[in-house]
Amino acid sequence: MENVIIIGTGCAGWTSAIYSARANLNPLVFSGELPGGQLSTTTEVENFPGFPEGIMGPDLMISMQKQAEKFGTRVEYDLVSSVESQEDGSILVKTSGGKEHQTRTVIVATGATPRWLHIDREKELVGHGLTSCATCDGAFYPDVPVVVVGGGDSACEEATFLTKFASKVYLVHRRDELRASQIMADRALNNEKIEPVWNSQVVEYLTDEKGEMRAVKLANTETGEESELEAKCVFVAIGHDPTTEFLEGSGVKLDDDGYILQEAHSTRSNIPGIFSAGDVSDHVYRQAITAAGDGCRAALDAERHIAAMED
Ligand code: NAP
Repeated sequence: MENVIIIGTGCAGWTSAIYSARANLNPLVFSGELPGGQLSTTTEVENFPGFPEGIMGPDLMISMQKQAEKFGTRVEYDLVSSVESQEDGSILVKTSGGKEHQTRTVIVATGATPRWLHIDREKELVGHGLTSCATCDGAFYPDVPVVVVGGGDSACEEATFLTKFASKVYLVHRRDELRASQIMADRALNNEKIEPVWNSQVVEYLTDEKGEMRAVKLANTETGEESELEAKCVFVAIGHDPTTEFLEGSGVKLDDDGYILQEAHSTRSNIPGIFSAGDVSDHVYRQAITAAGDGCRAALDAERHIAAMED
């Protein structure tokens, strides 16, 4: 019987592991599809406290893993395929590698995947003028024009935030009406640095001789007409997909968008012994440091749950 199984190796997962390992719970971590989580795909991180010179995302994640392993965390590079709560209060975790583990608690820290446009060279341009996080990367693009893609609250919020740095923010939306809440839409559209570009879809990323973003090619969604828009960075803000498919049949309550619902002021799900941390239950903050904080909370909640089981 395991004490704690942690699913996911982003900031939330590794922080849960560090805390659980230091509490002598000997945690077992499953790496998930993207070991290191979203930060393993980014370049410089300037807003994680403790690194005044910044740190590369993959280096930060490797350090977190080392810190977790130093205190006895075990890691398996396998995917969890299902989580089932058992009559005796334990939880059965099955992996796609065909293994089964029984555990007292599970911390789900599987994150959320930003949606992309699925156009040519998208993967290779991330970190070279293409990103899904304005908070992380906005400050790298002062006094230059940038593009935000999307028409929801995220796109409006990111566009408004980017006006602090960019000379101009083009808000490229595929329709002629925003999906965002009125207040967020008004804030964006009333900002003189933001120019909406309606009925438009980005169909190609255009780069300079160094391979950095230079412009985007747009297609008008009504007429098909193509045009070019200069932008040094493209912020894709068309939503996220939380990684929760493997919870189907577990009884864990999700919201309408698939995020795990946490009980108020806790990381508990509705199923005793199953906790969540990070972006898999957070569609508001989505930061490395908030995920890490949540990972700490989940580990403390799991520890208390185990102590109560032993009483
Ligand atoms: P969202 O509401 O799902 O909006 C996604 C936007 O991207 C839509 O405008 C959609 O266009 C567009 N889009 C989707 N796929 C596209 C594609 N392939 N190409 C071009 N455009 C595409 O996502 P979100 O803005 O991330 O918000 C998610 C949830 O978080 C919402 O409930 C939101 O209210 C909440 N949120 C809240 C705050 C806040 O309160 N501070 C901040 C951010 C998010 P269509 O409109 O044409 O479908």
